[in-house]
Amino acid sequence: MAEESSHEIDMLLGRMKSATSPLREILRELHSRLSGNHAGTVADYIPELATANPNSFGLALCTADGQIVEVGDCGTQFTIQSVSKPFMFGLAIEDHGVDHVLTKVGVEPTGEAFNAIVLDEVSNRPYNPMVNAGAIATADLIQGKDYPERVKRMVDLFSKFCGRDVFVDNSVFMSERLTGHRNRAMAHLMRNFGMMGERFEEALELYFQQCSILVTAHDLAIMGATLANGGVNPITKTRALQSENVKYLLSIMMTCGMYDFAGEWAFRVGIPAKSGVAGGIVAVVPGVLGIGLYSPRLDAKGNSVRGVEACKELSQRFGLHAFESHFSGEKLMDLFALKRGR
Ligand code: GLN
Repeated sequence: MAEESSHEIDMLLGRMKSATSPLREILRELHSRLSGNHAGTVADYIPELATANPNSFGLALCTADGQIVEVGDCGTQFTIQSVSKPFMFGLAIEDHGVDHVLTKVGVEPTGEAFNAIVLDEVSNRPYNPMVNAGAIATADLIQGKDYPERVKRMVDLFSKFCGRDVFVDNSVFMSERLTGHRNRAMAHLMRNFGMMGERFEEALELYFQQCSILVTAHDLAIMGATLANGGVNPITKTRALQSENVKYLLSIMMTCGMYDFAGEWAFRVGIPAKSGVAGGIVAVVPGVLGIGLYSPRLDAKGNSVRGVEACKELSQRFGLHAFESHFSGEKLMDLFALKRGR
């Protein structure tokens, strides 16, 4: 009898859960199906990254008004890596204005790998702030009276976007600076052309630090939602970036965010996004929501295999492509509204 009634309660709770959160069920199904995909390999060129659990997989959505739905390993910490790049580009723009920043780094996709040692032959600028050379040039632009102040401004930026105090993973940072010879080569090349100043070694250190910030899929969803919300974190209500600068981050993410897969990404998925070699992806549907993903197995271009698949499916199912003209499928925001019982 007691067993029967507890079974009944479980059934009822189960029904309530799926009635109140159909979106969670959709995400759960997607998550469990993609968990069976073991393609790709964990990055190991930065030795510390190889210690990640290859099976980790987290998927989180956060709306521009702060509602969060997440499934899987959304509390697992990993280093932000290249996902940091658009945010630092935003900070550089806030420090100097977009025109000055563009004298130091371009905004053209390269079609080359993120770590290519290549500069624009005419201007000597790195092609864009999403490749390593461009991100190092961008780090050079971050203001501060001394190095600790520059690091603090960087950490504060990510703390505002995440809505909590973030920290650098020291072992990844040390691993990066010990093995980052390609990145050093790029900085020296830019120094050679006078594109970086006396403090170029400091800019490299700052770049290694920004890549080593620890985040979760939950954090990435909130960072994305902050961009979707015009630069204001929807959970803390703190402004992380001036609203007029948000468009610069989103457009560079749309054209250059997914390494040399950026063109096909814009074509198929149509959502501004940025990936990192630890397996994180942040994607943004402006005005609507941020998506945070973590799964460390990467494809040949360096993007999270499950992360790319999840975004493709979400984009298609909910008509999230920026240039969708007549979508008649499920409306994502209706599912969120249901969750709140509206
Ligand atoms: N820290 C990494 C590097 O410099 C970042 C690269 C990435 O995430 N694509 O190589």
